[in-house]
Amino acid sequence: MNLLKKTLTFLGTASLVVGCAAQARTPAPVVSAPHAATTAPLTGCPSATVNALFEDFGNTGKMPPELAAWLSDPKSQITEPYQAFDNVYNVGICWVSAWLIKTSEGLILVDTLYEPYTDQLIQNIKLLGLDPADIKMALVTHGHFDHAGGISTIKSLTNAKIVMTKTGWSEARANAQSSQEQPTAWTMPTAADLLVKDGDVLTLGDTKVYVYETPGHTAGTVSYGLDVKDGPQAYRAIVIGGLGLNAIEDSRQVEAYISSVDRIKALVSASENPVLVNLATHPFSSGLTEIKERLKTRKPGQPHPLVDPEALLKQLDVLRAGATKRLAVEQALAKTKTP
Ligand SMILES: [Zn+2]
Repeated sequence: MNLLKKTLTFLGTASLVVGCAAQARTPAPVVSAPHAATTAPLTGCPSATVNALFEDFGNTGKMPPELAAWLSDPKSQITEPYQAFDNVYNVGICWVSAWLIKTSEGLILVDTLYEPYTDQLIQNIKLLGLDPADIKMALVTHGHFDHAGGISTIKSLTNAKIVMTKTGWSEARANAQSSQEQPTAWTMPTAADLLVKDGDVLTLGDTKVYVYETPGHTAGTVSYGLDVKDGPQAYRAIVIGGLGLNAIEDSRQVEAYISSVDRIKALVSASENPVLVNLATHPFSSGLTEIKERLKTRKPGQPHPLVDPEALLKQLDVLRAGATKRLAVEQALAKTKTP
């Protein structure tokens, strides 16, 4: 990962993608400039297309020009904020989610995006008729740029307490520090407001948030569970902190990833309060763009399209299979390094 970071010349947000979303081990990357694009520009946020482009990037190490252009263009990343449940809104951009939870005593934000998109996040909250000053807690899933890069902005504009794991905080501080020579340099406050650990329950008014440490994507990755409301119904939802295998450093990290996937699968299959809703941190990973359209045309009495544990289990199985393959690669690599 460090080598990748050093190797990549900066191209818009291309280096962030290495930080968060590409799935496969990335060979020595060769980043093509956007102006070299020969394919049609990417428009909107089509999940399957974006997924395929990220997969391509993960497999080849070459950033597809249309993906680089799309990630780097603030206009391309603007997407309409929407109400996903009675108490949950999506206020993110095309390629990264930010979720906003409304409680009886203020708002909880999950993930902060990064500049200039944190400004868009704030704008999205206002577009929904809500007040960013009401954010009481900003829960951050892990220390990568695209989720933690907006912490300083959120802190300066709102009353939010920043919430992370201790390791996540250290990751974010280290990543912010190493970004200082890049055009997208970002900063972190000196101290966390609230460090959480596995099993903690955060309460704001009528809402409880359950903390699950799910290391793997990074060591400090955390997932958050909460109940989402749809009329008289309530469902347990989860924001899974990170799904990519792109920041893997050794086989132990992959083992942790697999354990975390298994743990989330167990939460989905639990007999009591099973997790039924996936509030994805990257919209393309679960087809959120298309689900949003189904939500818009949903008729009274129809099931909520985000209540789909089968889709979540299927996604987790695919991720687990990918991680199992990756584990074998990492174990083989470790053997070659051992004298
Ligand atoms: Zn990440």
